[in-house]
Amino acid sequence: MMELATLVRKNIQGLTPYSSARGEFSGSAEIFLDANENPFGTFNRYPDPYQQALKKEIAQLKDLPVENIFIGNGSDEAIDLLFRVFCEPGKDKALIFPPTYGMYRVSAQINDVSLIEVPLNNQFLISEASVAPFLKDPLLKLLFVCSPNNPTGNLIPHKTLLRLLKNFSGIVVVDEAYIDFSEGPSALELLPEFPNLVVLQTLSKAWGQAGLRIGFAFGASEIISYLNKVKPPYNVSSANQQQALKALQNSAQFEKNRQLILSEKKRMEKALEKIPGVQKIFPSETNFLLLQIENAPEIYRQLIAQKIIVRNRDRQIENTLRITIGCPSENEKLLQTLQNITS
Ligand code: PMP
Repeated sequence: MMELATLVRKNIQGLTPYSSARGEFSGSAEIFLDANENPFGTFNRYPDPYQQALKKEIAQLKDLPVENIFIGNGSDEAIDLLFRVFCEPGKDKALIFPPTYGMYRVSAQINDVSLIEVPLNNQFLISEASVAPFLKDPLLKLLFVCSPNNPTGNLIPHKTLLRLLKNFSGIVVVDEAYIDFSEGPSALELLPEFPNLVVLQTLSKAWGQAGLRIGFAFGASEIISYLNKVKPPYNVSSANQQQALKALQNSAQFEKNRQLILSEKKRMEKALEKIPGVQKIFPSETNFLLLQIENAPEIYRQLIAQKIIVRNRDRQIENTLRITIGCPSENEKLLQTLQNITS
């Protein structure tokens, strides 16, 4: 990898970040008259800008030093910040492997960064031969690999990640939003070896806390420092930090829900196979199933008419619907409704 500083935008390298009151003084004191807060109320104080209590918990859970952890307002915030740190608007490029998560493109567009698209092959894997010619482009700064991938549900093998990490001198972002539903190893184990790797995870999926907007970027401490430099000072509210800590401390609930979702997924796979018109259920390492079914857009509309919303992915992969695994009664209702629509 190149020196990290050569990858980071010049204006960000030279940036003096905003120095917040809570960032400047975070020790113990009795009287805080430094932040123009209101002395009355419950959430009257600004939150810890570096979410230290939460990071300590995550550091333990992931067996990583605190300085390798960034916490964002959802992993979506980390995606945007990566563009802002590494990509010069109107000049630099990023690369994605479609069909994949839509926010990489939206964040690229917002940041005026042009996007190279290298489609996944027919097994939804990365074709290393197709991506190789792009990796030498000095303007290419970010590469997004979603694993397990949304909406296809499959893992990208570590063998492929290793080749990308070795052959690309920019930043490889591995988005592991769904990793807790997967049997596969996390790319976190590659962090010590690769200073150009950033791994994204979130509390929104297996931890069941999408409303809290807590996402993580794990990476070399130098990268984490740049993300901290650019983030809004108080990007995670104190209510959300507290709730996230509570959720993380209840690992029994996490495991119970995770197991139920996984067993419901198995049940749904078997039941959906029997629905008339179903052509394929793609293997999934996530909490959703990608279903190929005759007349998918029409079925999507009919489900809406019955007040059941799934995701129409027909534009990405013909005749597909992405179905999130719900609770048993929701899944049952979906199956019955699909049966009625198709028979
Ligand atoms: N990455 C992937 C692959 C996702 O599917 C999602 C949410 N749909 C996100 C990131 C965003 O997660 P968060 O709620 O942490 O912003």
